[in-house]
Amino acid sequence: MSAGADPRRLLPSVEQVLQRTEVRALEARHGRALVVRELRALVEDARTRAAAGDRAAVEAVAADLPARLAARLDQARAASLVPVINATGVVVHTNLGRSRLPAEAAAQVARIATSYSNLEFDLAGGDRGQREVHAETRLRALVGSEAAVVVNNNAAAVLLAVNTFAEGREVLVSRSELVEIGGSFRIPDVLRKGGARLREVGTTNRTRTADYRSALGPDTGLILKVHPSNFRIVGFTEAPSRSDLVALAHEAGVPMVEDLGSGLLAPLAGLDETTVAESLRGGVDVVTFSGDKLLGGPQAGLVVGAAARIGAMRANPLYRALRVDKMTLAALDAILVIHESGRAAADLPTVRMLSAPVGEVRARAAAFAARIGPEAPELTLSILDGTSAAGGGAAPTAEIPTALVRVAHRAKSAQRLAEELRMGDPPVVARLADGALVLDLRTVAREEEDGLAGALVRVAADPSRNG
Ligand SMILES: *Cc1c(COP(=O)(O)O)cnc(C)c1O
Repeated sequence: MSAGADPRRLLPSVEQVLQRTEVRALEARHGRALVVRELRALVEDARTRAAAGDRAAVEAVAADLPARLAARLDQARAASLVPVINATGVVVHTNLGRSRLPAEAAAQVARIATSYSNLEFDLAGGDRGQREVHAETRLRALVGSEAAVVVNNNAAAVLLAVNTFAEGREVLVSRSELVEIGGSFRIPDVLRKGGARLREVGTTNRTRTADYRSALGPDTGLILKVHPSNFRIVGFTEAPSRSDLVALAHEAGVPMVEDLGSGLLAPLAGLDETTVAESLRGGVDVVTFSGDKLLGGPQAGLVVGAAARIGAMRANPLYRALRVDKMTLAALDAILVIHESGRAAADLPTVRMLSAPVGEVRARAAAFAARIGPEAPELTLSILDGTSAAGGGAAPTAEIPTALVRVAHRAKSAQRLAEELRMGDPPVVARLADGALVLDLRTVAREEEDGLAGALVRVAADPSRNG
């Protein structure tokens, strides 16, 4: 072929490539459909370069088509969800998957997922059983409620409560509690989708029992109290006590429902959050909270409270659409065992990270910096005081004291370092603060430190993208 010929002619046809022995082997491993799709994309990409006159690129592709195809196939077959190192210091990081499960819960999920189980089978009687006897029995015992039901997430729990008790009726909510959580959970929208009408009570900063009393009527389906998870109203404020609201709801014969959001089981130092037991002790009929926030478990919506009320929710046909699968029940049960045995602070990553003393984080940060320094002469590392956050819409104003590793590169900007760390393997998500890249080891497991160190050393040394 002469040097001036159309470079597109360098490329074989898709049919020709498919006949090659190496490509047939790829087909046996990955399936014909995927091989054809990726091969077409590869050839198409080369044609575009050819049309742009990039002869060298096309020659390179033509010379090792099978190897390039194999690489593309590996990439196409790789899992889309991958583990990420969270060096942000935000413990319940919603975008990074909220709570990480302890190994014993993950092992229980794997056991149940890969076998048949007694999900809805009574082994003693040999006949149909109740799926509600598993995690829900333990949850009930743990929080001391008459009944419990588990659904897909806390949003589903609130939706189910509203639909069960207030379809076609009114839900009373204080104007200070019409919250939005994470962009897609907005109380007014959830009430509407639950078939109820919102009846706003009081004002943004002050709502009294009398305001609820004057809003109550024959159309009232329930009184809803919502935890202001991700903000605080401070200053000239007033809100009725939980027990006053409960008394009012019961006088009117409607249930009092509380959306607690994060679902703290036991008080946690430094976090000003209502516990589930406190809400129940206050007489609330139905308490809802998340499984993957401060509880430290899988995504789930936990509902506890009075037997008749929980029973009504379970009897709602919507429950069938919102209930959880066996893997979630398995994970939740294992998490509740840890809470039950008083091991949460030691064995649940979320609780452990939230309660790690600043001295411990500082010692780890210093050891980490001392270890990286000699391996990465391009970096300047220092230790700074800073704060971690609970995240996930819990304790929005709590600033957990922490120690940060500040990382500066002699040639790369903080943004560039952050991007290269995100694109690395394992991907690392760091924090940018005052124009600097900082790592908060509070949210990095000890077993992840080697991976983090390796990622940092590689990014420091990689000259390809300096600048
Ligand atoms: C987080 C939160 C929700 C949503 O919970 P999910 O489990 O994410 O569905 C609802 N209400 C409050 C008050 C919350 O904090």
